[in-house]
Amino acid sequence: MLPLSKLCVHTITTKPWPIEVAMDKYAAAGIGGITVWRQALEGKNIETVRAGLASRNLEVVSLCRGGFFPAADVKGLQAAIDDNLRAIDEAAALGAPMIVLVCGAVPGQPLEKSRDQIVDGIQAVLPHAEACGVKLAIEPLHPMYADDRSAISTMAQANAACERIGSPSVGIAVDVYHVWWDDALPDQIRLAAQHNRLFAFHVCDWMTPTTDLLNDRGLMGEGCIDIPGIRKAMEEAGFDGFNEVEIFSNRWWSQDQDAFLSRIVSAYQEHC
Ligand code: ZN
Repeated sequence: MLPLSKLCVHTITTKPWPIEVAMDKYAAAGIGGITVWRQALEGKNIETVRAGLASRNLEVVSLCRGGFFPAADVKGLQAAIDDNLRAIDEAAALGAPMIVLVCGAVPGQPLEKSRDQIVDGIQAVLPHAEACGVKLAIEPLHPMYADDRSAISTMAQANAACERIGSPSVGIAVDVYHVWWDDALPDQIRLAAQHNRLFAFHVCDWMTPTTDLLNDRGLMGEGCIDIPGIRKAMEEAGFDGFNEVEIFSNRWWSQDQDAFLSRIVSAYQEHC
């Protein structure tokens, strides 16, 4: 059975809970890690949150999220860089070792151009990230989001971007929701591992039918993704980090969050 010490929950998964409640509930459930979404920090004193997490022995796995580098004009490109610099400051203040990047795209703009802007944007913020000791994890997103959320849709594209950037501080967040369908996935996981780029592993499930492109993710075991198979591929490649539960679901958010967290823990042990 997978140890709870390797279970991490994203604050967005239990979105109805403020972070103070989430940290109490996660710790009480014996969960080892937390990935903090920036929305959960709005209006909060980050130092106070950091102390609260530390006192509950919750390891901060990452801050979600940075990215959205592509833009139609210079002003937009600079605004994205400024926001990512702020995210790096927040991660450093929180004690988060890594920021997950949803890289962005601009509808109507060629994807190749957006990928160039993503590489340029990451390179622009990289010195600050390195100075702060914060790693940057590119998360390839399912191609259904290639219009406006990520021009990086596959592990191969993520590996290629990392190759162009060439920094040990830039790697990949593998989220089963986005890459489960890709027959190149095992090879690309191994390639990423060879370059020490496997930074994070996110789990949830793919519902059939999916009724909302963004907010209809399933709990592990509810859908069709071979989560144990992908986790084994990650571990055989050398990944030994957290299994991060990241579920956006209007259905689950509308239910009792204590019961949902119990379901998360059992689904993690039975289906991951
Ligand atoms: Zn993810």
